[in-house]
Amino acid sequence: MEQLIEWINRQALSTKLKWTYLVTSGGVMLLSTLFLIGIQLYFFTAALVRQTQSQATMVGANLTAAMAFADSEAAGDILSALRVAPDVQSAVAYDAKGKAFVSFVRDPQSSPDAPAAHDAHARETVVDVRGVSVTRRIQVGNRLLGTVVVRSSVTSVYHQLTLYLALALPMTLALLSLSYYALSRLQRYFTAPIRALSAVSEQISRQGDYSLRAEVSPAADIGLLARTFNGMLDRIQKRERELEAEINERKRIEVKLDRLAHFDPVTQLNNRHFFNERLESVLARARKFDERTILMFIDLDNFKTVNDTLGHDIGDELLRLVSRRLSEALRFGDVLSRIGGDEFGIILENVSQVGVASMIAEKCLAKLADPIHIHGHDIHIGASIGISVYPDDATDMHALLKYADTAMYYAKNGGKNAWRTFTPSMRDDAHKRFKLDNNLRRALERDEFVLHYQPQVDLKTGDIVGVEALIRWIHPQLGMVSPNDFIPVAEDTGLIVPIGEWVLREACRDLTRWHAEGHLLRVAVNLSGRQLKENGLVASVLATLRETDVDPCWLELELTESMLMDASTDIVDRLHALTDAGIQLAIDDFGTGYSSMSYLKTFPVRALKVDRSFVRGLPQDPEDAAITRAIIAMARSLKMEIVAEGIETQEQHDFLRAHGCDKSQGYLYGRPCAAAQIGQMLARTRAGTCEVD
Ligand code: C2E
Ligand code: MG
Ligand code: MG
Repeated sequence: MEQLIEWINRQALSTKLKWTYLVTSGGVMLLSTLFLIGIQLYFFTAALVRQTQSQATMVGANLTAAMAFADSEAAGDILSALRVAPDVQSAVAYDAKGKAFVSFVRDPQSSPDAPAAHDAHARETVVDVRGVSVTRRIQVGNRLLGTVVVRSSVTSVYHQLTLYLALALPMTLALLSLSYYALSRLQRYFTAPIRALSAVSEQISRQGDYSLRAEVSPAADIGLLARTFNGMLDRIQKRERELEAEINERKRIEVKLDRLAHFDPVTQLNNRHFFNERLESVLARARKFDERTILMFIDLDNFKTVNDTLGHDIGDELLRLVSRRLSEALRFGDVLSRIGGDEFGIILENVSQVGVASMIAEKCLAKLADPIHIHGHDIHIGASIGISVYPDDATDMHALLKYADTAMYYAKNGGKNAWRTFTPSMRDDAHKRFKLDNNLRRALERDEFVLHYQPQVDLKTGDIVGVEALIRWIHPQLGMVSPNDFIPVAEDTGLIVPIGEWVLREACRDLTRWHAEGHLLRVAVNLSGRQLKENGLVASVLATLRETDVDPCWLELELTESMLMDASTDIVDRLHALTDAGIQLAIDDFGTGYSSMSYLKTFPVRALKVDRSFVRGLPQDPEDAAITRAIIAMARSLKMEIVAEGIETQEQHDFLRAHGCDKSQGYLYGRPCAAAQIGQMLARTRAGTCEVD
């Protein structure tokens, strides 16, 4: 039953309606046919009863005489006359005692019904399913002569009913079929708008096309449904359009943001963010296919100088032109990104040999070798390139980045405009630097620095006229750490600034004491490039001088050539501010850098310190001798004082004195030592005269 209900529920509405109509109209037709049959049965039976009654009455009357005279032959003839009445099956006449007097039976063989027994009390008319029995009294006046019983069969009634049914049933079925056909046609016609509506909705859900509309039927209810449906589609379509516009806008913004996040607007290259993402995916691929990847960091040399002196517009243009030149050195598919101010990164994918890296690096340097013309300026820009290789140097992305950076640092420190590939010794160095960095941070607080001084001697008089302050770091575990090891680390981390301030203060304090003891000498303090870049340098130096009560003329600051080469206008201003205050500037390690006398004129430098590498070969090495003589001659012409470093032998001393060098510094006069020892030395030499002559 449940399955039937489920099946019915699954059928289309039109099918349900059709079957409902068929079942109800078929039922109604069946009931009305049955009702008509009932009525027919009643009327046919009533007619049979009336007919039998009249025949019994007529036969009863006709039998009166025959019964009265007991004339059975005449009585038999009268009953036989009933043969003409087809429904009469039998008739029996009983005498007054109830004994059958005469009878008529239409078909004696077939009649189990034949002449009913006489019953004086029987009802006059009896109707049963097989027939009708009518009893009539035969009497003369009040004298009963007997009774007659006539029995008719209902077979004819049944025949008539069967005939009726035989006619009515096909008629009913034909009518039902006809109405079913008509109903189907009508139902198709009436439900056409609904089917059209559902077809549209089905099409919309299949194609997702909300611009489709249902045809509006003139029928009130379905028309309203179609209009409402179309209205709903209007709203969905509008919402759809809004949503689409919203999504498109969002996508556009996302693309823009993504582009901004990965893009450098100055050079039109991708930026560091993109570079790192790309490197990650390239390394993943290299790992999977066992490929080699080369990573290169390129840092432009002296870019800051250009930017500061010629302005940011030219700086930007320079970056653009540099990026164009660099990309000319690369193959299609190599990645070039701007990963910092003047830093570029290159990824070379799927490289067969490590040698490719050096080839590309050379190509990049060659591309940058020609001066770049911008707005009438010929700009010479070099680059320092660091290279690390996957998987040769490291398999981890961060290590590779760090190593390329380390290699670049080495290229820069090794004199710039060069490339270096990463080596494990650099890693050890980096590790050492890292360890130093951590320790350096605490060294100042723990008072682990001491200041040593090395005397500077006037070559004419032999007097100690100055000292150079040289820092020493006494580490509890590492022992004495050379400034050559920790100063570069302190510069990188910026710790050189507080360290430099400490050195200056300490040197000024010792100087004040020596001056108080009557030894009038100058103190030379080394200044690092990082310190020179500090805005507050001049104020800090002057404050220390004031605080320690030292006249600025007793202070000499040592700079290196590279610091001057990279000097921006700010730095030049700072140098002038220092010399204006009375402080003297000297160029340290002269001859190891650019050694260009011409640029020296632009700086307020008072002294040159000839690097000890030239002094070492004196006086035998003709080249060293020639260079030293040339430097002394040039300095003379520029009215600069000449100081020679690293004098270890008497011959060196004699050579320098003979060639007009002003001052000397070296182990020959004294190794760098503590302030107290310098004090003793000064006291011994009586007003600072050195024993060497
Ligand atoms: P520098 O300024 O050129 O200092 C001279 C270096 O030469 C000193 O090494 C000194 O000990 C060494 N020296 C002096 N005479 C001789 C000699 O006759 N023969 C030889 N072979 N060497 C000699 P030191 O003290 O190890 O300093 C190395 C460098 O560290 C210095 O070179 C300087 O650039 C830097 N430095 C030292 N102290 C400071 C400081 O307080 N601040 C800054 N920024 N740098 C410093
Ligand atoms: Mg020095
Ligand atoms: Mg030096």
